[in-house]
Amino acid sequence: MMMDEAAQQKMQFMFALRSHGVTDARVLSAMEAIDRSYFVKGIFSARAYEDTPLPIACGQTISQPSVVAMMTQALKLSPRDKVLEVGTGSGYQAAILSQLVRRVYTVDRHARLVKDAMSLFRRLDLNNITALIADGSYGLPEQAPFDRIILTAAAEDPPGPLLAQLKVGGIMVLPVGQSDAVQSLIRVTKTEDGLHYDELRPVRFVPLVEGLGKD
Ligand code: SAH
Repeated sequence: MMMDEAAQQKMQFMFALRSHGVTDARVLSAMEAIDRSYFVKGIFSARAYEDTPLPIACGQTISQPSVVAMMTQALKLSPRDKVLEVGTGSGYQAAILSQLVRRVYTVDRHARLVKDAMSLFRRLDLNNITALIADGSYGLPEQAPFDRIILTAAAEDPPGPLLAQLKVGGIMVLPVGQSDAVQSLIRVTKTEDGLHYDELRPVRFVPLVEGLGKD
C-alpha cells in the first residue's frame, strides 16, 4: 500500500521521538495529537515535522520536537497536575502539556508571542491553558505552588522564586548554563529533605532574559 506524504512524515516524526528514548505512551500520544505545523509560521511551516528547532517571532525558536518530548517525559506528569511553563514561545510545549495535565500556566516576556499563542489555543480548543505576559524568573506567585515547573529558556542557575513555588513532591525541568555555551538539561526534585538534582543531557536553548520584551 502506498503511504501519502503526510502519513510518512508523521511516521518519521514519531520514529525520531522513540529513537531519542521517548517511551512514555501518554507523551507519545500527546505528541501525535498536537500538529506542530500550527505553531510554525510562513516558510518554515513546511519543515514542521522535522526534528529540528525552527525560528519563530521575536527572534525566538520553537524547540526540537524530540527535546520537547524528552522534557515532557522527564516531568513525570500526572493528570491532576498544575504546571507552570516559563517561555511560551510558539505555544507548542504548552499545547503538549495541556493534553497530559489538569491545568497549564505559561508565561513569556514577549507580549506578541503570548497573544499569538492564546489565539492558537482558542482555535485548537485547548481550554486548560492560561498564557500570561510576565518575567518568568519570578514565577507566578498568584497561582503558586505548582506540581511541576518547566523552563524552556536557559538560566545560569535554577531561579530561587521558581524553586520556592514548587510543591514538596514537585519536579522542575530546566536547561542551565551560560548562553551560547553547552547547557545541561537538569531535573530538580523537591522532597521533605530538600532538593535533589539529576543531570539529564546537554541541550541548547535561548537564554532566560530579565524584564519584559519591547513587543
Ligand atoms: N516553549 C517554546 C519555546 C520557547 S523559546 C515553544 O514551545 O515554542 C524561549 C522563550 O522564552 C522565548 O519565547 C522567550 O521570549 C522566553 N523567555 C526568555 N526569558 C524569559 C523570561 N524571563 N520570562 C518569560 N519568558 C522568557
